[in-house]
Amino acid sequence: MITKMKGTYDVTDDIGYLQEIEKKMLTVSKLFRYEEIRTPHFEATELFHRGVGETTDIINKETYTFEDRGNRQNTLRPEGTAGVVRAYIENKLYANPVTPQKYFYYGSMFRYERPQKGRFREFRQFGAEAFGSASPEIDAEVIAYAVTFLKAIKLKDVTVHLNSLGGKASKTAYHQALKAHLKDDITALCGDCQTRYKDNPLRILDCKVDADHPLVKGAPKPLDYLVEEDRTHFERVQAALKAMQIPFVVDDNLVRGLDYYTHTVFEIKVPEALLGRQNAICGGGRYNNLVETLGGPQTPATGFAFGIERIIVAMKAAGITPEASNLHVYFIALGDQAKLATLALMQRFRIGGLTANTDYLDKNIKGQFKQSDHQKARFVIVIGDAEIAKREIEIKDQRTGDTVNTSLEGAYETVVKLLTKGDACEDCDYQKGAR
Ligand code: AMP
Repeated sequence: MITKMKGTYDVTDDIGYLQEIEKKMLTVSKLFRYEEIRTPHFEATELFHRGVGETTDIINKETYTFEDRGNRQNTLRPEGTAGVVRAYIENKLYANPVTPQKYFYYGSMFRYERPQKGRFREFRQFGAEAFGSASPEIDAEVIAYAVTFLKAIKLKDVTVHLNSLGGKASKTAYHQALKAHLKDDITALCGDCQTRYKDNPLRILDCKVDADHPLVKGAPKPLDYLVEEDRTHFERVQAALKAMQIPFVVDDNLVRGLDYYTHTVFEIKVPEALLGRQNAICGGGRYNNLVETLGGPQTPATGFAFGIERIIVAMKAAGITPEASNLHVYFIALGDQAKLATLALMQRFRIGGLTANTDYLDKNIKGQFKQSDHQKARFVIVIGDAEIAKREIEIKDQRTGDTVNTSLEGAYETVVKLLTKGDACEDCDYQKGAR
């Protein structure tokens, strides 16, 4: 038997979660006016080296890179931002008169990581990027967007962790202070941290091995090195979040794993009880230099990325189930003529936006009733020779046991009436059907 590759998974039982997430992602993105952008699953290797950073674990240890038959170096995308920025520059999206230009993306990312709960080698992200505004208020907007999406999928017990790294002057001052702090004792940290010290000391604060080491815990914090202008930016982000009544905590240990961040960085976490220590379901922040680094015009930008698998684990742990899709009518057809009449009726129902299903296995009536239970049908309609002869059928409500008689021709209208009886129906999706 050929089995799936390590770190990948098939979506079978969880498809309802995925579809719910995708549906709410589309709805909330519309509300915030972010347009979808789709970019390739593989890009030139160089894009990620320049875009994500040579010194990050993602690039050093985790990429799937291969040479194609034309001797080009390809890399499966490990994250979404670099590809979106490449597309933004290549398609001159910065010339779009609608400003700022706001996009979201959704799809598989690939990282060669050690698989564990909520950590895969192919995983999905939903991310957003807003280009062209340096305003702190749009940093707050992307956070509001992320939080509103979580509300829509009913994941309410979340905490926004917020920090600021500042712009160039603040980052340089902080780097110097951090290096000075670590200089004498750097050999006490892990081998990776000793390399990071030379290449990218900020990464040391992210290290999973040394997270609790006193040298790391006692390190200076980026917030203490913000120049005046950057401090004001950070204060305005906080004021905007407060105005929108979005709770957050300032977390001065938060630095994020990628090189390109400037100013605002944030993560959204769920309680450890739901996800364990890997409890960040969303990460994001501002990246004012990436568009320029990748060859585009100087363009400030800000965004986020959600890890979809972790959201699903958290939803399950919080007892959230996706909305079940309803089967309105299960048709039980007995005999060849009845089958044709059933097919005709089902087509009428489906075109009218009501869900309908029948047996295609020639099961007996008992077996077909069993199916209607398995499929959780709201109504059952049995069609046999007698119904065809009289052109009259009985509609049975499986919830109440009530029955209603109607003509074959009037079946659809009668079911619609039954569904909308009293107040609004629970199954109102049919009103948006293909009628
Ligand atoms: P990052 O691009 O590393 O900032 O990650 C953004 C989000 O993607 C994280 O908060 C995780 O929820 C998710 N994520 C990152 N790596 C993986 C992985 N290997 N498997 C599943 N989810 C991941």
